[in-house]
Amino acid sequence: MSSLVLAERLARVRPPASLMARERAVRLKRAGHDIADLTIGEPDFPLPPHVTQAISDAASRGATRYTSTSGTIELREAIQAKFRRENGISYEVAEVVVGSGAKQLIHAAMGATVQAGDEVIVPTPYWVSYPDLVRLHGATPVFVACTVERGFKLVPEKLEAAISPRTRWLVINSPNNPSGAVYDAEELRALGDVLRRHERVWILTDEIYEHFCYDGTRTSSLAAAAPHLRDRILTVNGVSKTYGMTGLRIGYAGGPRDLMKAIEALLMQSTSCPNSIGQAAAVAALNGPQDCVREAVAAFSDKRDLLVSSLSAVEGVELTVPSGAFYVYLGVRQLLGGRAPGGGVLETDADFALFLLEHAGVATVAGAGYGLSPYLRLSFAGSRSTVGDGGRRIAEALSSIDGGSVG
Ligand code: PLP
Repeated sequence: MSSLVLAERLARVRPPASLMARERAVRLKRAGHDIADLTIGEPDFPLPPHVTQAISDAASRGATRYTSTSGTIELREAIQAKFRRENGISYEVAEVVVGSGAKQLIHAAMGATVQAGDEVIVPTPYWVSYPDLVRLHGATPVFVACTVERGFKLVPEKLEAAISPRTRWLVINSPNNPSGAVYDAEELRALGDVLRRHERVWILTDEIYEHFCYDGTRTSSLAAAAPHLRDRILTVNGVSKTYGMTGLRIGYAGGPRDLMKAIEALLMQSTSCPNSIGQAAAVAALNGPQDCVREAVAAFSDKRDLLVSSLSAVEGVELTVPSGAFYVYLGVRQLLGGRAPGGGVLETDADFALFLLEHAGVATVAGAGYGLSPYLRLSFAGSRSTVGDGGRRIAEALSSIDGGSVG
């Protein structure tokens, strides 16, 4: 028997539902099954050529050493300029920290600021990692359901009702993973009016999908929409989604200097610094031509339309066309209780995800992982053919369900 004793905190984290679903899809593919994988939020486009060039230049000139923990000065200046140019926020270089992905920065922000007894407000549906990153550090996520009737968005009354004397943070994610909801400046200002009255509450705004907005939808950065909150906002962003650089692991954040120093203190005792080649690539991405971003957004808009058009004729599903990010959050409430062609009754969104995988060869993620059921998250970040195939297969499979509360 092993003498390994696991820390109690390990019991507070679960593997992210999206990664688990993806791994299952990959295993099936390796075993020779034909699977259309709509699980993962990873752009399919190649690195822009100037970014590839920057990687090879960085390697050739020996930029392969430790950098400062918060990131190279070149990258922090590029981020500072980006925040000013694209978001209308002015951060000093000392107010910018680079991490090994946005996820690491959220982890460090929680690690630096919360403990047992603290609460963090997490609107649902949420990105899978927020609750676990809160729990990992002993605090309690307080969920606020943001239903489809309100566009999956947090509204001021609900925010007000969720705030307690123990609230330390509110997490906002716009454009949202998994719902695709995008808050406009007016909606953010309305939330800001509530937060004005609660000076102890800080706000973590995750803007990593900021460029992925469709049909002319415009998003705003919270610190620009509600500048009076600036000194208690942590603006989190990164290059993973915008430039298709997920594996290079570079995220960044801007916020008040004392918070950034606290985050840096934790990074010093974890990764020491973000990967140096990735940082050089991020400088090229942020400072270089941005046509690649416009092209990516146009391609994603087209894939979104393709997926939505396959699903629009399916009876009994609740289809909300996402304004942003790269997911469709498909409601299956009316199909619950329906019978699959093999005879099994589909009671939960997890049953639907399994049914689609086994019956139709399409991998999706059940809404339970995002805190709002019964939904399926369908990513349209993959190739056009995968998205097209996936949409067709889902439509056929869901149409073959017998009964449910709709039938
Ligand atoms: N924030 C959201 C909302 C995400 O969906 C993701 C990745 O899926 C991340 C952060 C993580 O980004 P990074 O790759 O920079 O860690």
